[in-house]
Amino acid sequence: MNSPYTPGIAAARLAAEALAENFADLHAPLDGHEAAVAADRCYFCHDAPCITACPTDIDIPLFIRQIATGTPEAAARTIFDQNILGGMCARVCPTEDLCEQACVREMAEGKPVEIGRLQRYATDTVMAAGVMPFERAAPTGKKIAVIGAGPAGLSCAHRLAMLGHDVTVYDAMPKPGGLNEYGIAAYKSTDDFAAREVEWLCSIGGIEIKTGMALGEALKLDDVVGCFEATFLAVGLGGVNALSVDGADKNGVEDAVSFIETLRQTDDLSSLPVGRNVVVIGGGMTAVDAAVQSKLLGADNVTIAYRRGRDAMGASRYEQDLAASHGVKLMFNAQPKAIHGNGSAAEIELELTETVDGTLRGTGETVRLPADQVFRAIGQTLTSDGGLDLDGRKIAVTGAGRTSRAGVWAGGDCAAGGDDLTVTAVAEGRDAAMDIHATLMGGS
Ligand SMILES: Cc1cc2nc3c(=O)[nH]c(=O)nc-3n(C[C@H](O)[C@H](O)[C@H](O)COP(=O)(O)OP(=O)(O)OC[C@H]3O[C@@H](n4cnc5c(N)ncnc54)[C@H](O)[C@@H]3O)c2cc1C
Ligand code: SF4
Repeated sequence: MNSPYTPGIAAARLAAEALAENFADLHAPLDGHEAAVAADRCYFCHDAPCITACPTDIDIPLFIRQIATGTPEAAARTIFDQNILGGMCARVCPTEDLCEQACVREMAEGKPVEIGRLQRYATDTVMAAGVMPFERAAPTGKKIAVIGAGPAGLSCAHRLAMLGHDVTVYDAMPKPGGLNEYGIAAYKSTDDFAAREVEWLCSIGGIEIKTGMALGEALKLDDVVGCFEATFLAVGLGGVNALSVDGADKNGVEDAVSFIETLRQTDDLSSLPVGRNVVVIGGGMTAVDAAVQSKLLGADNVTIAYRRGRDAMGASRYEQDLAASHGVKLMFNAQPKAIHGNGSAAEIELELTETVDGTLRGTGETVRLPADQVFRAIGQTLTSDGGLDLDGRKIAVTGAGRTSRAGVWAGGDCAAGGDDLTVTAVAEGRDAAMDIHATLMGGS
């Protein structure tokens, strides 16, 4: 058995019981009484700002009222009407930046209605009972392909199936779910929730998922377009940006998303090696998730080094505080300059930065930190664009996800214009489905 102080990168730094406790549900679910008390705090506002702040436009006061009146099943239906992945979004949405930030009780008292936890209470009730609250419309005879089984693809597939179309979903990975399955922090999605949600979502019927089928490899866009009446591309961002500093090729310098993917897929957390001194480069949710989970695996010292100031960080203040509460050190205005070590990383050299006239630049002052593991969390990139026009580094879309090619829509992280959140991907998948339906049924 190792300990947090074992040098280098080592597995089993903590006992199995400690690991199980560390990776338990981040927020315990509300019980019926707690949900009633939480629902009671809602003012059921007219023109509720929380609805406007929700990317899927869930009628939040309505579902909270339904919980308050003891009908969580009706509340779940209100949520799923707009967001079929409302169960996952209740777990992963940065509500502190969205609905709960806009809540009038947050403005007045600094304590919002717990919308996320109430949403989880309602959706869990229905999903635990195995009830799919929607039925398929009469078959339209139309066949539609969805490429990518993440939140955007699944949301699109469900809505299309509900409207009576037959949907085939292709995904490159062995399991569907996208980042819900492979990326979201383990303590946000416990008990195999991502897989259970996909199974529940597909229980509507009319959705066939084919895994191990990658666009650009086994699958060519021309062939798909030739076989289906419409195609929705939702391949996310599969690549990761490289770290271009001296020593970036040393052992122990790794991609944060791959680390999290391995963590999400393991049956035995004690088999996962983690450094004694871990430094994560980046400032988004991926950086926070990699850092917190390294700490939970038993790393002794974990630092997030971010090149800009706190306010520019992609991770919300809540996520930053979560990291700090787990003992992760947040270092701002520090950019990587070199990684030192003999074959394996041993130290990272960071240069302090400042912003002058709106431009970030190094000050020349450097600092060295012990680092036997360095995670890159500096953004992801599109890997399969299907030859479609791009807008910057993403697929160009207009309206509800129409691409440069007739009959092909795109949404979620791979499409330009979104904000790389699960809930936004769900909204874009749903809206593209409605546009595909209108187009195929002669509406536009
Ligand atoms: C580590 C991490 C943590 C995150 N945490 C949060 C969080 O807590 N809250 C939040 O709101 N957001 C979070 N996000 C962002 C969120 O996960 C994404 O915005 C969301 O998953 C995007 O959904 P998507 O369907 O567009 O793409 P993805 O979820 O990436 O799904 C894309 C799917 O396409 C498949 N695919 C890729 N290439 C091909 C190909 N060539 N052929 C066929 N299939 C392909 C993939 O296997 C995958 O299943 C996180 C992201 C990361 C990386
Ligand atoms: S803003 Fe807050 S109090 Fe008003 S309806 Fe939304 S959750 Fe309820």
